[in-house]
Amino acid sequence: MWTWKIIYFSFRITCMEKKKHFNCLKESFGIDVFNEKAMREYLPREVVEELLDVVKNGRELKIELANQVAAGLKEWALNKGATHYSHWFQPLNGLTAEKHDSFLMIDDLTGEAIFEFSGRELIKGEPDASSFPNGGLRATFEARGYTMWDASSPAFIASNDGGKCLYIPTAFCSYHGDALDEKTPLLRSEAYLSEQALRVLQIFGDQDSKRVNLLIGPEQEYFLIEAEQLKKRKDIIYSGRTLFGAPSPKGQELDDHYFAAIRGKVAAYMDEVNQILWRLGIPAKTEHNEVAPSQHELAVIYAKANIAADQNQMVMRVLQRTAKKHGLICLLKEKPFAGVNGSGKHINFSLATDRGVNLFTPGQHVQENKQFLVFLAALLKACDEFAPLLRESVSSYNNDLRLGGHEAPPSVLSVFIGEALNSVVEEIINEKKALDALPSFLLTGTSVLPSLRKDNTDRNRTSPFAFTGNRFEFRMVGSALNISTPAMCIATALGYELKCFADYVDTQDDKKKAIDSWIKETLTAHSRIIFNGNGYADEWLLEAQKRGLPCIKDTYEAIDNVEKDQKIHSLFSVSGVLSNNELSSRLNIRYLSYANDGLIEAKAASHMVHKLFLPALHRAFAAFAKEKHHAKDTQFVPRHLDLSLSKISELIDETYEKLEILDADIARAKDLCGKELAFFVHDSIKFHLEEVRKPIDEAELLLMKDEWPIPSYGDLLFHVI
Ligand code: ADP
Ligand code: MG
Repeated sequence: MWTWKIIYFSFRITCMEKKKHFNCLKESFGIDVFNEKAMREYLPREVVEELLDVVKNGRELKIELANQVAAGLKEWALNKGATHYSHWFQPLNGLTAEKHDSFLMIDDLTGEAIFEFSGRELIKGEPDASSFPNGGLRATFEARGYTMWDASSPAFIASNDGGKCLYIPTAFCSYHGDALDEKTPLLRSEAYLSEQALRVLQIFGDQDSKRVNLLIGPEQEYFLIEAEQLKKRKDIIYSGRTLFGAPSPKGQELDDHYFAAIRGKVAAYMDEVNQILWRLGIPAKTEHNEVAPSQHELAVIYAKANIAADQNQMVMRVLQRTAKKHGLICLLKEKPFAGVNGSGKHINFSLATDRGVNLFTPGQHVQENKQFLVFLAALLKACDEFAPLLRESVSSYNNDLRLGGHEAPPSVLSVFIGEALNSVVEEIINEKKALDALPSFLLTGTSVLPSLRKDNTDRNRTSPFAFTGNRFEFRMVGSALNISTPAMCIATALGYELKCFADYVDTQDDKKKAIDSWIKETLTAHSRIIFNGNGYADEWLLEAQKRGLPCIKDTYEAIDNVEKDQKIHSLFSVSGVLSNNELSSRLNIRYLSYANDGLIEAKAASHMVHKLFLPALHRAFAAFAKEKHHAKDTQFVPRHLDLSLSKISELIDETYEKLEILDADIARAKDLCGKELAFFVHDSIKFHLEEVRKPIDEAELLLMKDEWPIPSYGDLLFHVI
């Protein structure tokens, strides 16, 4: 009897503890964010209403309101232990930037310490940020940049091991108002897309929607290695990836890591990452092991593009910082290891009205389905006409190593729409059916959506751009990239196509006829971008060539294409998303960072060969030579000694030969800059870097484990337990 009672009560206690834990989780979600709940606690009611209205309708934030918000925000931050605040922004170096100021001031009259934070300090900052890339937009005498609060993205508190800081998401502009960051153009493009999408909705009779939002859900892939191993891998330290390394005996051929049970150390790490993200109001949702050994993924629930972009920057930061606490290193670069899968960051996106209607979903009625077809056709047209732009928006030195491999989307942009939708498109193009008699699944609407979704999510893994039932998934994005640029390009190009549709229909008397003919003509003209087959197959590249789809192999070509494409220049100026100066400054920066990435790798590789690998090879040669010398005394020289000596000496010769060429490239690069340097990296350095790797990887397999100066692929990929 007592035993049963004990069992019963311990069961009750476990349940209560679990409940407490869940409540705790629920309460901790967003606890470090100045969200509506915190606002209501720290700001007067009318201030909250006004601020929410500013955010919702994108109105200007007046200084009087800012002063009141700043006062409440300061109290909240101080109560949570923050001593500093920082305008947090995303300059064009692919990272985030912050400069901390304490709330501390000295009272003029009493000389005592006080805590101050004004509305002006909240909405505008003037960091001396002259060293950030500006691509020629700022002369030195006006080098100062300005940060401006983006009230649509909430302020939050993050701890920096030492202390806590209030982060205020901001846009970063020059004195003349030119965008110097990732956020500003994204905000402009979201507004443009919303404006044009609303025009389309009005044509279809929706007069109530006030805004159309671009929603994005990124899936972040990353690798984890043991921190101990990093110390000896200068290549990873300098360039974020391995520049040398023979394949380990086992790779990913067994697919035994994909979705496998998450091991203890990694599980503990993921748990802490989740806790931190939830406190920051970032809804981390899915986590799993990915295909390559030591590769993982984290997906968060989708949010408005601008917020999703800010959140993803925080996700990457939390992943990296938390790893260190667990004795791990989180690698975010796209291709840390040759021979196994690289990491991407698929961005799932959809369009939804402020009333929550998803515009990539077919509806219940003919009208709604036509509206769906307009959005679909506009997206296909955008992908076809602006393929070089979308390709460029995801290009980087490291993503080049991933795209076009047999694991990641090919370099040709195409769109997967699935069989069901494809047959609809074909019927419209071939005029088998009038638009008012669309196939059944479109007419029956949402009730059959699950089957459409299933059809589309299961069979599109090789497509760079896939329709997955009620959203699209752009798979070319690299794991280390800021999602703002691809999101901004999608929003601008789609907004522009919707504008073309609305402009056309507005001028026509017979609206119904105009809509039908626009859908048919657009699908007909741009159906070449649709490809539902295997994107990894070599035949696809031939077929794509026949269709005239551009195959842009690397970043240099991608930037060069955008630079020359007048259609892209006018897209940005017509939409007002980027001025000509802003666009060309961005392209200059892209050339520069591509060139720098390549050059740093070349220098790191040369350094490692000179200081580590050649000495190791010479030591091994000397050891074999000594052994042979002793063997001679016994009148018997084993054959393997001669073979090893000649092989090592061959490899030493080959290494010197190739290293000399790489070193000459590095010397030559000193005289080059900008686009010329980028071309040199694309044309020469990349190739010579790969060449010098070959004898080194071969030598690794030949030498004894303890003779090799750096951890092997096996040590790196199979060590996290
Ligand atoms: P899968 O691996 O099958 O692509 P995941 O669950 O890993 O799916 O990721 C799906 C991502 O898509 C998540 O970030 C999710 O929030 C996002 N998502 C789901 N629905 C939408 C939508 N309507 N618009 C934008 N993103 C969405
Ligand atoms: Mg996924």
